[in-house]
Amino acid sequence: MKYDHIMVRFGELSTKGKNKKEFIRVLARNIRNALSSFSTLEYIVRLDHIYIKLNDNNPDEIIGILQGISGIHALSLVLKTDDEISNVKKVSLELIKMESGNTFKVHSKRANKKYPIISDQINREVAGDILRNTNLKVDVHNPDILLSIEMREDGCYIFTKTYKGAGGYPLGVGGKIMHMLSGGIDSPVAAYLLMKRGLRIECIHFASPPYTNIGVIEKLKDILAKLNTYQESIRLNIIPFTKIQEKIYEVADESYAITLMRRMMFRLASELAKRRNCLACSSGESVGQVASQTLESINVINAVTNLPILRPVVTYDKIDIIELARKIDTYDISIRPYEDCCTIFTPKNPKTKPSLEKVLEYEAKYDFDSLIKEALDNIEIIYSKL
Ligand code: ATP
Ligand code: MG
Repeated sequence: MKYDHIMVRFGELSTKGKNKKEFIRVLARNIRNALSSFSTLEYIVRLDHIYIKLNDNNPDEIIGILQGISGIHALSLVLKTDDEISNVKKVSLELIKMESGNTFKVHSKRANKKYPIISDQINREVAGDILRNTNLKVDVHNPDILLSIEMREDGCYIFTKTYKGAGGYPLGVGGKIMHMLSGGIDSPVAAYLLMKRGLRIECIHFASPPYTNIGVIEKLKDILAKLNTYQESIRLNIIPFTKIQEKIYEVADESYAITLMRRMMFRLASELAKRRNCLACSSGESVGQVASQTLESINVINAVTNLPILRPVVTYDKIDIIELARKIDTYDISIRPYEDCCTIFTPKNPKTKPSLEKVLEYEAKYDFDSLIKEALDNIEIIYSKL
């Protein structure tokens, strides 16, 4: 017997009231896009589930792809039959025979309230039939096999196998965010977490040739190719940052270089965010990790923008970030050696408690606005596509 449908469950989406219809529409579109290479699949989109009719496609690869799509809470491989109870019993028996275990429980749900037999009665009929025809025993508390039966208006769905989905919200329902992507471990993980919450990302990277080598761009492309699993097309804006950095080192004490540099980064990111209709920026900052990530530093750095800056990994331990980086397969790319604009200019004693007055004094020594404008006029755009 072959599974004929995959049932897609929304989980958290169910609580979203009037936005629900829009969320389901976006999720259905994301699913169709991700599975576009399987041309014979059919989609049945309902307010409570999405069903994918397999039409003989092998479900394994499809399940794997679906598990990467945010907004999906769980997936089940199901067998569909009409709601005639004798057929429900027959299919249930065949399905449970394919499973291994000694105990079982039947859990049925009568979503179609017009169906004449109540759930308890369905449970009893099906379980009785299984008891008569197999050696399995009932265990209602901790069964080896949970056989679920859902009576719906268009028929009956029966399943035993459920797979965990990525959770979160469908990509795109939350709007777009300008994400600062370095070549490090943290920012790809932060990007993944944002996408998982339904935000579409556009990326910005500050490049400092010749101090940073060209390899970093290849690295970013490889990282984005991994992130394409969650967003099929990502725009990467490469900002020429060398002149700004050199100027910072000219006007300011070395201990303030990082603070100034990050203020320039935030100015550039905010300006580009506004131009591209992003309502916020984001980064892979984690509080306390480095000098620029103390509350005092974040305060002085943040003062340059009135856009919200989202920092999804702000409270994460490095070890937890690494675990997620491994999960999304960016870790091995991120640890490739490279020269980041931050690492190359890292001062020996960066200020952990920079003073805003001092910062403003340094910034007043040069017309940084014109350098910012020049950088924004010379963006190189790269698209990463699935
Ligand atoms: P990551 O592992 O993401 O590089 P990190 O722990 O090395 O983070 P920093 O180098 O201080 O920390 O950078 C903090 C955040 O600032 C990064 O996560 C990223 O969002 C942003 N950032 C740093 N350098 C760049 C860069 N060259 N281009 C774009 N964003 C950057
Ligand atoms: Mg870094």
